Amino acid sequence: MNMTAHYIGTPEKLSQSEIYQCRIYIRKHRGKRVISFHNFFIDLEALSGLFNLDCSNCHLAHFHSCCEKGRPLAPGKETIKQLTPHVETIVERYLTSSHEKQWRKEGFIERSEKTDYYDNFSLCGEDCFFYAKEQEHFCSIHRYAIEQQLPLTSLKPMACSMYPIDLIEIDGCILITALHPETLSFCRWGEEYYKDFLCANVQYREDSMNGNQESRENMRQSIPESIFRLDHYKPAYVWEKETIEHFCGKEVYEWIDTKIKENDYFQ
Ligand code: SF4
Repeated sequence: MNMTAHYIGTPEKLSQSEIYQCRIYIRKHRGKRVISFHNFFIDLEALSGLFNLDCSNCHLAHFHSCCEKGRPLAPGKETIKQLTPHVETIVERYLTSSHEKQWRKEGFIERSEKTDYYDNFSLCGEDCFFYAKEQEHFCSIHRYAIEQQLPLTSLKPMACSMYPIDLIEIDGCILITALHPETLSFCRWGEEYYKDFLCANVQYREDSMNGNQESRENMRQSIPESIFRLDHYKPAYVWEKETIEHFCGKEVYEWIDTKIKENDYFQ
């Protein structure tokens, strides 16, 4: 069989092993938790997993966030093209003089062995070029798009916008899934988010609230009760309503919502 698959919204490719694992996963769960609807495979179980995207407080729970010490999945030519005219304002408005100096000298794109030879955002220090962390901690592209009332999907890398769900085109269909213990072998988010971050692991938050928090390399010991609140965890598909509607259509979002509620996946 021809091994064709790719992550939607980034030119970065699945490895042959990830394609194999993805195909096995669909075969194993099809008709049960992975249901066909039009040309989509919809992973109801993974999409109903609970997340809390309390991103602005991430630094209070973790030593480094997902935007620190790294860069996003490659954004794709169209996003870079649409973002480029806005970069000067973003730098001036939200970022530091180091960013400005670097941007004037080298621009904001790097293509090297470190980026697997994809065009990707440069790092400033060790962090994604667009991560602002001087006073508040936020994605400067995201804030700019909201303030300018521009569609987020046109400026921010799609991979960043869609966390924690994943869209994978495979064998002529699109798998709509999410970060989940059973998708770690092929999902674009891999293991790190699930194993490291409170947003993706409600059990970690329950443990820390109950005083049973295990020591983890990237997790602080005293996490304020007011952040990553247990009652703010919501299913992955609810967080990503806009992304699903934008790329798959409103009908698909409504179908997912109805099916998940019918199956009583969460209450
Ligand atoms: S583009 Fe924004 S969300 Fe994506 S890694 Fe950079 S700072 Fe984070």
